Amino acid sequence: MNILMLASEAVPLAKTGGLADVVGTLPMELARLGHDVRLALPRYAALDATAIKLKKAPSVEVPWRGDRLEVGVETGTLGGGAVPLTCIRYDPFFARQGLYGEGGRDYPDNLDRFALFCRAVMEACKQPGRPPDILHAHDWQAALAVAYLKTLYRNDPAWAGTRALFTIHNIGYQGLFPVSTYDATGLPWSEYTPERLEYYGQVNLLKGGLVYADILNTVSPTYAREIQTAEFGFGLEGVLQTRKDRLFGVTNGIDYDVWNPETDPHLPARYSADDLSGKRECKRVLQAEMKLPVRDVPLVGLVSRLAFQKGIDLIVDILPKLLDLDVQVVALGSGDPSYQTLLAGLSARYPDKLSVRLTFDEPLAHRIEAGADLFLMPSRYEPCGLNQLYSLRYGTVPVVRKTGGLADTVVPYVPDARSGSVATGFSFETPEPEVLLSTMFLALRVYRDKEEWTGLMRRGMQQDFSWQRSAGQYVELYARAMAL
Ligand code: ADP
Repeated sequence: MNILMLASEAVPLAKTGGLADVVGTLPMELARLGHDVRLALPRYAALDATAIKLKKAPSVEVPWRGDRLEVGVETGTLGGGAVPLTCIRYDPFFARQGLYGEGGRDYPDNLDRFALFCRAVMEACKQPGRPPDILHAHDWQAALAVAYLKTLYRNDPAWAGTRALFTIHNIGYQGLFPVSTYDATGLPWSEYTPERLEYYGQVNLLKGGLVYADILNTVSPTYAREIQTAEFGFGLEGVLQTRKDRLFGVTNGIDYDVWNPETDPHLPARYSADDLSGKRECKRVLQAEMKLPVRDVPLVGLVSRLAFQKGIDLIVDILPKLLDLDVQVVALGSGDPSYQTLLAGLSARYPDKLSVRLTFDEPLAHRIEAGADLFLMPSRYEPCGLNQLYSLRYGTVPVVRKTGGLADTVVPYVPDARSGSVATGFSFETPEPEVLLSTMFLALRVYRDKEEWTGLMRRGMQQDFSWQRSAGQYVELYARAMAL
């Protein structure tokens, strides 16, 4: 298949969240399966041009606000040459410090920025005589490309027969803009209707992806169902219900080259499901690094954005009761200042039991995944979630809320139901502090049964959440779109 993928971020070039992990990994796996994939990204100033061998290519003329704008194009490769890359260069828009904003504020011209990106991709990625089979766009920043394909480029031979897949990574982020900005999309006003891009008097770019694409998916089967309900749909549940026959869930993979306890260079010792002794060493070193007493006590880990979505309020609520027990907790996170203050206050109150680092620190995230016994992830909603997958791989038993990707990837332990033979973690449904606390009590009780606990650890470590598996499912979706 000939696939053109576009998005606003991709590891290792530009990252603010899980979107970048998917977009940076999926094209390589598709190429490995024998498909032709090209990735298109904005040319941010911070992209390391030498690593990807970026070279200037002929610029393109893009229709822009009734005029034509010359936009730069640079090409390179990713994944050791496996995936060709097209970068759209327009420095007034993309040579900025942030991807979407600075100092906690979104750039006010984000609609202009990503409309130009999408329009320029449609011009720069034309291959005369060889239309892509699939245009695969991710999240609101790339959604307009799907709208363009189905409207302005509908009769363009360079796009004849191209089908569109649109992937939703988090429906909480929709790209909402005042109607006064609509002209920058370049679309006729006939597309600004409640059936298309209009949303309660505003322009909703994500909605464009949902209504124009041939096929839709999100990053886990459970989240695909949840977003069709008012509790999880952020107002777009009605639109999704009308498209439910075209909406699928594909659980993300994780990069086993980066997240592998047998080879991880960030760890003081390595280990595997067959020999867990290195994990004990990782725990001792983590306790020392976090200035906690080095001793045999259940160690609970947390690595998270500090946001309401992640259930941090539930954690803050139960910590005093949890810390009355003989446990230790290490927390790494950054985000909402009010949660930072609360966590810092609690660690001052329980210096021997709770240690927090309020930064973004990737190597420490690896050491927590390896050194902790349990991993806490009580998200209120979770499209897929990566940290529980890392935890499973590192033999660190996850305690999760049964939602989205967490429900699809953690098999919960059920007391007295002989679930011990299949369980890989603990989960709860109602997002209330008492429910989380009683789930933690259960987990800590099972922790004392070493045989049962080791079984949980080993089963988690043996799960397959590789990208190979997910990429195969994306190929099936592409085939489905092409057969329409
Ligand atoms: P989301 O994308 O919603 O933040 P995910 O679980 O899908 O949640 O992915 C989060 C990613 O960011 C993981 O790779 C996780 O390890 C990492 N991460 C989050 N917070 C931190 C932090 N403070 N330091 C290091 N890594 C972090």
